[in-house]
Amino acid sequence: MKRILYLKFLAGYLIFGILGFILVSTVTSQALQNRVEALDAHTLYTECTEIAAHYASDYYKGTMELSELQSHLETISHYMNTQIKVIDVSGRIIIDSANSSLSGEDAVIEGFNISDFGSKYYMIGSFYNTFSEKQLTVFAPITPGYRVRGYVLIHKPLSDISAYSYELLDIVYITLLLLFLLAFILLLLFSLFIYRPIRRMASVADAYIDGDFSQKINIHTQDELGHLAAAFDYMANELNTLEDDQRKFVSNVSHDFRSPLTSIKGYVEAILDGTIPYEMQDKYLNIILFETERLNKLTSSILELNKFGSHGKAILYMKHFDINYIIRMTALAFEGRCSEKHMSIELILSGQNLYVTADMAKIQQVIYNLTDNAIKFSHPDSSITIETTEKNDKVFVSVKDSGIGIPSDSLKKVWERFYKTDLSRGKDKRGTGLGLAIVKEIIQAHDENINVISTEGVGTEFIFTLSLSKEQFSAT
Ligand code: ATP
Ligand code: MG
Repeated sequence: MKRILYLKFLAGYLIFGILGFILVSTVTSQALQNRVEALDAHTLYTECTEIAAHYASDYYKGTMELSELQSHLETISHYMNTQIKVIDVSGRIIIDSANSSLSGEDAVIEGFNISDFGSKYYMIGSFYNTFSEKQLTVFAPITPGYRVRGYVLIHKPLSDISAYSYELLDIVYITLLLLFLLAFILLLLFSLFIYRPIRRMASVADAYIDGDFSQKINIHTQDELGHLAAAFDYMANELNTLEDDQRKFVSNVSHDFRSPLTSIKGYVEAILDGTIPYEMQDKYLNIILFETERLNKLTSSILELNKFGSHGKAILYMKHFDINYIIRMTALAFEGRCSEKHMSIELILSGQNLYVTADMAKIQQVIYNLTDNAIKFSHPDSSITIETTEKNDKVFVSVKDSGIGIPSDSLKKVWERFYKTDLSRGKDKRGTGLGLAIVKEIIQAHDENINVISTEGVGTEFIFTLSLSKEQFSAT
């Protein structure tokens, strides 16, 4: 299986890193530089207006000597790490903090025009080619007596300003790197807690496609993934048992069909080729009849069970009927078999009539199957009891015998198709092991319950419930 999802996330992570780096190195870097320049310009401008309003104006008013102004400006420029100039309106330099002995052409700024500043109070560049390195230049007019007499200029090398913005940019880069590391940790956590479980589920699903349902996902977290994994495991288990059930069913059906067919074939061949003499033929024809009946019963039981899907329900023809009447009629039908085994059926019925709502034919079959078992697995000269009791809205029907009983480890299995306990196997060759499976399906289709209580060697009791009929109808 390719790690496409993982590669997608990894690519997303790398793109996030690269785009982040490009963004910081272009947009953020430029924005930071502009901001630092504007801030510096503002600070220098405040200083510039201070100098223009006090020292320079004093000079123009004649209250301060040129040399005194020069020394003041040198001190300030040294302290601020800048270069300060005082120029007149035509661009002639009167004082330069970096040059105390100005003369001739040095003292004039070629092409100086105050309108070049526009609406701004600062400009960036070589300032009329007077600097080889780019400068931030701030200006403020000197206005003693409300007349512009000149300008104070402060120059600061742009490299000083950039150095500061680079320092700030370094902090941004470090933050970006930390974010990148954090995202990597998130990627690892994603890989551990989301990607790996998904990959595990995908590989287990592949195993299911190949028919191997034994694999379990084994993720037990209390989140959506844990829920999905549990649903997966449940589904695999269902499919597995379904497949198992189907295999078991087919092998049981073929086995149960093969043995009577083999014996029928054997006896018919023996009769035809004369191995069985004429006077013995009656005996073997009876065995053939017996086996044919068994096959007949097997076929109708399988057809009956087939009406109940594993989850679907058979169509029930619900009606109100007297369950006591049905029990009496069933007991009568078993009279012949009971007298053969010197057995009796004792009926303890609640009242004369007891009306229930159910599918009469199917419930009759339940009572028939249970009574048949009770007689079949009882000792001669014993008796069985069929009892009805009414409680709340329910009717409890119990079929009880004192026969061979069911071993405790077989109690749950008796409902399985074709299951027969070891105790009964030798005794009843005719049994298909489908009777109780049909009983269970019928009771479940009615949304009712059936239980079995049994002690090996003592006896067995089957109890099932039915819904008591609200209205009283006469038995049909
Ligand atoms: P069939 O009902 O098709 O004739 P069967 O009676 O063997 O066959 P079930 O009715 O499904 O099959 O019963 C399954 C098994 O449960 C029986 O073979 C028997 O081992 C056990 N069993 C059922 N009822 C009793 C009982 N009353 N006493 C002891 N064992 C029982
Ligand atoms: Mg039976």
